[in-house]
Amino acid sequence: MDIGNLLKKDLEELCFEADKIRMDNVGDIVHIRALLEISNICKRNCAYCGLRTQNQELSRYALSIDEIGKIGKSVCDIGYKTIVLQSGENNHYDIARFSEMVAELVNNGIVVTLSLGELSFQELKLLKEAGTKRYLLKFETADKKLYEQLHKGYYLEARLDCLSAIRELGYEVGSGFLVGLPGENEDTIIDNLLLLEKLQCNMAGIGVFIPHKQTPLSDIPHGNIEITKKCVAISRMLLPKCNIPITTSLGEFGDKYQMFYGGANVIMQNITPQNYADKYQIYPKPKIIIDWAKDRERLEKQIKKLGRTPV
Ligand code: SAH
Ligand code: SF4
Repeated sequence: MDIGNLLKKDLEELCFEADKIRMDNVGDIVHIRALLEISNICKRNCAYCGLRTQNQELSRYALSIDEIGKIGKSVCDIGYKTIVLQSGENNHYDIARFSEMVAELVNNGIVVTLSLGELSFQELKLLKEAGTKRYLLKFETADKKLYEQLHKGYYLEARLDCLSAIRELGYEVGSGFLVGLPGENEDTIIDNLLLLEKLQCNMAGIGVFIPHKQTPLSDIPHGNIEITKKCVAISRMLLPKCNIPITTSLGEFGDKYQMFYGGANVIMQNITPQNYADKYQIYPKPKIIIDWAKDRERLEKQIKKLGRTPV
């Protein structure tokens, strides 16, 4: 597939093609995932992210393992089937105890997805043995040099090694990248898409960079929305059976649901308790009022209105 040529096509044309491929390969279902932002503590310093350790203006929190388990069971009772536990990269949790909580959720019929950053093989193994089904770790950019500029002291190879470990351990692999990072060009975007294909991701999340005041990239404009949408559509062409979410960052712009007609088949619904959600400022988010049951009902209605089947 000539990705350079695809990127030159009209967004509408790409979406039309991607929508057909989506229908033929993964059908009408839209998967709703409950997103629980368990902690905003992070030891890393990604140049684009508001949770970076050097942002001292952010008040930090970590839900207790018991709290996470309780919330998981409660949202399952109102219809969520998958819970995504996401946090900054930190050593806050004892992974053995965390795994016990995961195992309990899994025993209750809940599908668990984790997005806790780069963990060691041993930690990933424990969490997999506890029943975790998927792990999300975006490579963020396929450009080795750019990766190292934006993540001082960290390396793309290590990220990719971690993704290999995730695959080897039998997880469904989620990865992806950001559109609009300073220093990227069209070749970077092509390489990002090629890497996504090479990794044969089971889930591909393409986000758009949004500047955050307390980061070194505060003055950089947000990424191009049209290019981001094109990348979503092209991902569907490259990986027909993949799960492709409308990422929360992309959802901040214009018609949130447009890409359900352009290749996407997954959406995350934030279920983080309000006082914590307000502090999970990866990028500046508008204040949202979180109501588990009402939010799910509203989302299901919206998806049905689009002629799709919420699950
Ligand atoms: N700490 C973990 C998971 C939480 S961060 C990790 O980094 O993998 C989840 C995602 O937020 C990252 O993968 C990144 O792509 C996205 N993100 C961070 N800062 C962002 C920003 N300013 N704009 C858009 N997305 C951002
Ligand atoms: Fe931490 Fe993830 Fe943000 Fe990087 S992107 S600073 S690892 S939360």
